[in-house]
Amino acid sequence: MPAVNLKAATKVYCSIFFDLNVRCLLCGQAPGGLLCHPCLSLLAPIEPPVCRCGLPHAAPLEDQDEAPLCGRCLRRPPAFSASQSPLQYRFPLDLLIRRYKHHGDLVAERAIEQLLARAPLPWPDTDALCPLPAHWRRRWRRGFDQSERLARRLASLWDRPLLSALQRQRFTPMQQGLSRRQRQRNLRQAFRPVKDVRGLRLVLVDDVMTTGSSARAAADCLLKQGAAEVRVWTLARTPAP
Ligand SMILES: [Zn+2]
Ligand SMILES: [Zn+2]
Repeated sequence: MPAVNLKAATKVYCSIFFDLNVRCLLCGQAPGGLLCHPCLSLLAPIEPPVCRCGLPHAAPLEDQDEAPLCGRCLRRPPAFSASQSPLQYRFPLDLLIRRYKHHGDLVAERAIEQLLARAPLPWPDTDALCPLPAHWRRRWRRGFDQSERLARRLASLWDRPLLSALQRQRFTPMQQGLSRRQRQRNLRQAFRPVKDVRGLRLVLVDDVMTTGSSARAAADCLLKQGAAEVRVWTLARTPAP
């Protein structure tokens, strides 16, 4: 049996438990944390007021509760009643999320958890959090479902139950690069309810909202099953084109 290098082993364990020698995941410099302060300051927030689709838009008028809808939402109002993302999906956050999602990098997950911990629950009347599920084939290929993991973490941070109420029932190919019509066709009946959601105010959770088509389809499914309200929370939102 080879002799254990005690000094090296201790160093490894210390670095795991005390984050010694940990370099910033984004720039590889500035030891002392998974995300350094200069990189954190590069993350672009999305400032309210936002439209129902989560993109910055006009504030509500004085005598109205809800903000006016943007042109896109006016043409096709989303089934969900609000959506919010604290950060824009752009450099350098896109690198971090891709590293997490496509490589299953659990160190990146810890960095993302730091960002989650800074985000308050925007809707205090929320009854439960529901992950926007990936199809089992994609989950199997990646080895995990990032929306489920994010929702689980948020459920503990926000002290709300996790309710995995939806399953994907059709395999929807990668939505990037498809026209809106093609996306809609793919997403029609993409979700299947697997839990009782009657009367519940739910928040759908995912990592990134791009066009919002999946969130629309999922919210539609939950509302048809009797959910009282569906809102959407994603860590990041693709800025308006
Ligand atoms: Zn950095
Ligand atoms: Zn809108």
